Amino acid sequence: MIAGMKPSFQTAGRLEAVRYEIRGALARRARELEQQGNDVLHLNIGNPGAFGFRTPETMRRAVIRNLPFSEGYGPQAGIFPAREAVAMQFQARGLTDTRYDQVVVGNGVSELVDLTLRSLLEPEDEVLVPAPDYPLWTAAVVLNGGKAVHYQCRESDGFLPDVARIEEQITSKTRAIVVINPNNPTGAVYPEETLQALADLATRHDLIIFSDEIYDSICYEDARFVPMAPLAPETLCVSFGGLSKVYRACGWRVGWAVFTGALERAEDYMLAVEKLAALRLSANVPGQWAVQTALGGYQSIADLVGRDGRLFESRQAVIEACERSRFLELVKPMGAMYAFPSVRTEVFGDFDDHRFAAELLEHKHILIVPGSSFNIPERNHFRITLLPEAEQLTEAFERIDDLLEELADE
Ligand code: PLP
Repeated sequence: MIAGMKPSFQTAGRLEAVRYEIRGALARRARELEQQGNDVLHLNIGNPGAFGFRTPETMRRAVIRNLPFSEGYGPQAGIFPAREAVAMQFQARGLTDTRYDQVVVGNGVSELVDLTLRSLLEPEDEVLVPAPDYPLWTAAVVLNGGKAVHYQCRESDGFLPDVARIEEQITSKTRAIVVINPNNPTGAVYPEETLQALADLATRHDLIIFSDEIYDSICYEDARFVPMAPLAPETLCVSFGGLSKVYRACGWRVGWAVFTGALERAEDYMLAVEKLAALRLSANVPGQWAVQTALGGYQSIADLVGRDGRLFESRQAVIEACERSRFLELVKPMGAMYAFPSVRTEVFGDFDDHRFAAELLEHKHILIVPGSSFNIPERNHFRITLLPEAEQLTEAFERIDDLLEELADE
């Protein structure tokens, strides 16, 4: 501090435990490089619009037509047609008695993750969170006073959870388990046996299941998405979905949470979530008008993930680039829109993923996210999004390999 100057304003200490490096210091440095006239390839964020993907035209029309009816606050839990459309999706998944009042619509899944955890946690309560995770989950647990207990999903297991090991991590303070399927960042799509084992574990220990299914219909080859809710009728299951990814409308900020299973014991909890939803008045209203249109009829995401689809081809380019590389290994992503390669430790010994990401940005102008940002102890992974065109990704991996070559020679 310079003499005579007042100290900086304080920052809440609880933020120290929060990490969200997807848009962190590296992204700030990327902006500086761009301001200096450099082109930076942003492989850090799963933002379809930034790569030329468009929201389906019918959804845009639904929003535009209903704009005149969207000027006021909406109901706190969402407009009826949106809630009803989500309930009908769950009916079609076999939960035939799902009603609209089991659905809460929010400003993206992000807001609902916070609301559902804030309504649940007492200080020191524990929540089982996968590692690697989508770091919002860990952050939201911590910010709401809880403790995130990470269960490892190992690369050698195809990034699937090991349910027996998770059981050993359960204590009298464990309140819930988070499942992300299809998974960000690994691209793992969980088989039904794994999901059933997780559901049974939660039921045995009376845990709430938070099932983040925002990538539900983004599956490749023969991978098949299995929803958690029908497998967990005897405990409370909160399933999350939204318009951001499957419908390429992240900017509209529309997501939903669906409460199923042991509802007779969840009345107070659901009222608490609704109370917090009321505190923020309502979710973005115009975007909600697209939910019914989105969920009904033909699902255009199938054209992107099927053979010859743009996402399929980008994924293929990344798989082939990793196969060609003598430095990289990749568990093939079977869902979502990311790849999570690892750098062979036998070549590099101690690898520093943050240093690698910083050098890749500085010297090759590619922005990636270091793997340890996803709350894993290993430091030899990184995440990229599959959203750019295949050729861009092939070229990016040539530059990644060039840098690894230089580092291997050091
Ligand atoms: N959950 C996962 C696993 C995600 O990857 C993301 C965004 O990348 C979100 C939730 C947040 O989605 P939304 O845009 O609905 O807030």
